[in-house]
Amino acid sequence: MSTLIPHWRAGARWPGTTPEPERYADVHDPATGQVSGRVALASGAEVDAVVADAVAAGREWAETSLSRRTSVLFAFREVLVRRREEVAAAITAEHGKVLDDALGEVQRGLEVAEFACGAPHLLKGGFSEGVSSGVDVYSIRQALGVVAVISPFNFPAMVPLWFVPVAIACGNAVVLKPSEKDPSTSLLLAEIWAEAGLPDGVFNVVQGDKVAVDSLLTHRDVKAVSFVGSTPVARYVYETGTAHGKRVQALGGAKNHMVVLPDADLEAAADAAVSAGFGSAGERCMAISALVCVDPVADRLVPLIAERMAGLVTGDGRRGSDMGPLVTATHRDKVASYVDAGAEAGASVVVDGRGVQPDGAEGGFWLGPTMLDHVETSMSVYTDEIFGPVLSVLRVPSYDAALDLVNANPYGNGTAIFTHDGGAARRFQHEVEVGMVGVNVPIPVPMAYYSFGGWKSSLFGDSHAHGTEGIHFFTRGKVVTSRWPTPDLPRPGIDLGFPQ
Ligand code: NAD
Repeated sequence: MSTLIPHWRAGARWPGTTPEPERYADVHDPATGQVSGRVALASGAEVDAVVADAVAAGREWAETSLSRRTSVLFAFREVLVRRREEVAAAITAEHGKVLDDALGEVQRGLEVAEFACGAPHLLKGGFSEGVSSGVDVYSIRQALGVVAVISPFNFPAMVPLWFVPVAIACGNAVVLKPSEKDPSTSLLLAEIWAEAGLPDGVFNVVQGDKVAVDSLLTHRDVKAVSFVGSTPVARYVYETGTAHGKRVQALGGAKNHMVVLPDADLEAAADAAVSAGFGSAGERCMAISALVCVDPVADRLVPLIAERMAGLVTGDGRRGSDMGPLVTATHRDKVASYVDAGAEAGASVVVDGRGVQPDGAEGGFWLGPTMLDHVETSMSVYTDEIFGPVLSVLRVPSYDAALDLVNANPYGNGTAIFTHDGGAARRFQHEVEVGMVGVNVPIPVPMAYYSFGGWKSSLFGDSHAHGTEGIHFFTRGKVVTSRWPTPDLPRPGIDLGFPQ
């Protein structure tokens, strides 16, 4: 009998309204293929119950002093630091990424919690004294109420932490709907909030699938939705949430290009392509999946990358491997099918991960690092987001052709250029239609105090995650115009027109 993974309500684990849920999904250990748990899939009524709690808790939390709210944020940071290995182990057990990488993910999330500790400064408004005789104007930012965070499988700690600490610091209550593929990390985060002294009901977790998502998107009391996931679902979440009067930021999928110019340091470029292509088995929204080589780079770079790939160990993330399994058997099969399709369409498979011998159990969802050369933009291995350890090499004759190729792609999450030419790099960062750009840096992930988000089909809405955009997303601005009578000021009297 596998463990039941419940929701989190009123400061404790909550099995839902039926102790043995009617709807649940199996959760796997991807390194063994074994079912390790069963996650409850919330009904609409269960979501309603959690949101009702959050509304009540959120009202009090918004009235709690800034200094008290901030002290909870600082405590959260301390407890997360203390328990980070436990969180990382939970990530590896259900996602499959190697432990080191899971610890890195926790670290990135932690940095957003640290950023949110500075919310009192960021929530300060402006004040204009004497805009008219005896009249002052000032601005304030207030909490929204209940906000929903809907997260993907690939970062079960970091993505919720992009939003939750900022939303809470701003005085909101949060309902998190994690991915049903790796739901346990959310409960550890909930425990950590509770240990930090966050009042019950301010942070909640509803486990679930589309039913829970739809309930949140249409719920009258959910005021904002932060979503991260694939592009079709991001578009749906944006359209449905905004049609129901919510503000929505919906971060979608990606196809990230790394452009290598002939003057680049090719040894460094090869290292970068391997790290960014195969870290987390390519299941990162900032993974490099398309390597755009400006002639004659590919002839030298492809062998350098292949050499490095030969040294990578694919295996159980708890054993010190370089790369873990994919998240589910279905996803592994889908990724492998893109390699088949690429080969059939004429790409050459330079390194083939389909027959990998992993350092781990036979039933794991394995696919080794794979590289295809001579990929064309018409092939499905290029047009689709694959989200696996597959690097496609495209050859182009010039910088302009490389730029056109990147800009023609519908996604615009991240990109990188490798060159020693400062002028070319500067031109690229100006001309490329992508939200996050690396110059000799393969995964240009902004820090917590900048905002994270792509362009085009990689983001629906106009607000990126965390940083000052996060503070704005989770608050509403209000402007107050005030006049306090004093003996030296004449009464304004009656005037039906605008003052001139
Ligand atoms: P997904 O879209 O399948 O799921 C994301 C969330 O939406 C999950 O909580 C899931 O339960 C829910 N969901 C799935 N189908 C739904 C539907 N039909 N209706 C309503 N809700 C639904 O994404 P995933 O496979 O979990 O995550 C991988 C994707 O996330 C990739 O496309 C990746 O690029 C993207 N991603 C993007 C970023 C970014 O910053 N842009 C970051 C991380 C991941």
